[in-house]
Amino acid sequence: MVNSQIALRDSAPDAVSVWNECLENIKPLVPVMTFNTWFVPIKPIALAGDTLTIQLPNNFFYDWIAERYNSFIAKSIKEVLGEQGVIKYVVMNEELKEPEVTEPQLTSKITMDPSSLSQETTDEADGSEPVESNINPKYTFENFIKGESNQLARAAAYAIGENPGGTSFNPLFIYGGVGLGKTHLIQAIGNAVLQNNRRKKVHYISADRFTLDFVQSIQYNKKQEFTNRFKKLDVLIIDDIHGLSGKERTLDEFFFIFNTLHQAGKQIVLTSDRPPNELTGISDRLISRFNWGLTTDIQPPDFETRMAILNDKADNYGIKLTGEMYDYIATHITSNIRELEGVLLKLLAKISFGFKDITFEMVKKIVKEISTTKKVIIGIDVITKVVCEHMRIDEKKIRDKTRKKEIAEARQIAMYLSKMMTNSTLKMIGLHFGGRDHSTVIHAITETEHRVNTEKRTKDMIEEIQNKIELLCS
Ligand code: ADP
Ligand code: MG
Repeated sequence: MVNSQIALRDSAPDAVSVWNECLENIKPLVPVMTFNTWFVPIKPIALAGDTLTIQLPNNFFYDWIAERYNSFIAKSIKEVLGEQGVIKYVVMNEELKEPEVTEPQLTSKITMDPSSLSQETTDEADGSEPVESNINPKYTFENFIKGESNQLARAAAYAIGENPGGTSFNPLFIYGGVGLGKTHLIQAIGNAVLQNNRRKKVHYISADRFTLDFVQSIQYNKKQEFTNRFKKLDVLIIDDIHGLSGKERTLDEFFFIFNTLHQAGKQIVLTSDRPPNELTGISDRLISRFNWGLTTDIQPPDFETRMAILNDKADNYGIKLTGEMYDYIATHITSNIRELEGVLLKLLAKISFGFKDITFEMVKKIVKEISTTKKVIIGIDVITKVVCEHMRIDEKKIRDKTRKKEIAEARQIAMYLSKMMTNSTLKMIGLHFGGRDHSTVIHAITETEHRVNTEKRTKDMIEEIQNKIELLCS
C-alpha cells in the first residue's frame, strides 16, 4: 500500500499531498472527534527531502500532540515517505495567529460540525422564547492576558469559541482560586461563539442562579419550561458549579440537562473552585462526566503576567504609572487579579476626585489597604459562624446549654474544626462554646472524628464547611 501510494503520486510530491496521505492513515486509528480537534487544524508547510514540516496552531497543541500522538504521526510519515521519512513540527507564532483566525485555514474545516446545520432554526420558528445569553461583552479573548498560569485553559477556551461542541473538550471544566479569570474566560467563549454566529444559543448562568431558577420553577409549576430553556442550547456555561453541592434535586435536573446536551453534541463549559474529584456533595456519576472532556486549572499569575495585566489595564483606564509603581504593585499583590484591578480602580477614583499626580506613597497605601482587607486569620469565631450558617443554626444557641440534637451536633463539629484548623487549646475552645470543660471538648472531637470515619455524609459536609472557611480566610 505504501509503495502504490508513492507510485501514484506525481514526481514532485508537495507537503499538502504527503500530509493528506498521512491523515488518511491516521484517521482510522483515532476517534472522529480527536481527529477533528487535533489533526484537521494542522497545516503542512514544507517538504524538503524526507522531512515534512507541519505547523501547529499553538504551544498547547504542540504539547498535546507531542505527548499523545507523536507515534501515530511518526509512523504514518514513514508509511508515506518510507523509513527515512520524518516530521518536523513548528508552532505558529501566537501573536500572529489571532488576527488570522477567521481565515479559512484554521476554521473552515473545523466548523463543519453537523450542529451548524441546525442554526437555521430561529427562535421564532421553533416557537420558543429567545435565549438570554447573559454574556457580558467586556470579557473577551482580546483583553485576556495570556500567561503560563492560564495557558492551557485559555487555549482550550479559545478552541471552543471557534468550534463549540466540535472539539474533544466537552465538557470543558476550568477550576482555580478566586479572581484568577475563570469567569472572564468562559464569558469570552460566549462572546466568541456569538461573534462567529449570532444564531447560536449561548447561555451563561452561575450555579447559584441555576439553583434559584430551578427551585422557583418548581414553586410556580414551571419545571418543564425550565428544562426546555436549557435543552435547546448550543452552549451552556455554568459558573462556580461547586455551588450545586448537596442540592440533590437541582443536581438531578442538571444531570439530565447535561446528558441531553452532551448527547446532542452541544457544548458544556463549567468552572469550579476545585477539581472535580475534590467536589463534595455531588454524585460520582456526575463527577465522572465532568472529566469526560478537558479538566484544567488556572493558577495564580506569575510576576510577568501580573505586570502585563497591570500594563494593559492601566492603559485602558488611561492611568500613567512609573516602572517602580508597576513593580511595587505586581510584587505585593500576587494571588488575585481582581485585586490588581482593584488597585488601579482606586487610583482611578483618586484621579477623578481631583488628585492630579499619582505618587508612589499613594500606590503603597492603596496596595496595603487592598492586601490587608480580607486577610482574616482562621479563628474560632469564623469557624463557628460558617458552621452555623451551613447547618442553619442560630449562632447564639451554639453557646447555650441546650442539648437539642442539631445544635449539639453543630457545636461538636465547630469544636472539632477549631481543634483542627486553629492553634487554640482545648481550654480555649471550651471557653468559647459557653464555658465547657476540656473533657467535653475531647468528647466532641473524638465523637466527630468517629463520624467522619464512618459516615460519608458527615465527612462530605465537614469538608465542605472546611473549604468555605478556607475560602473566606484566603
Ligand atoms: P474568577 O471567576 O476566577 O474569580 P474573574 O474572571 O472574575 O475571576 O476575574 C477577576 C478579574 O480579573 C476580572 O475583572 C477579569 O477581567 C480579570 N482578569 C482575570 N484574569 C485576567 C487575565 N488573564 N487578563 C486580563 N484580565 C484578567
Ligand atoms: Mg468567577
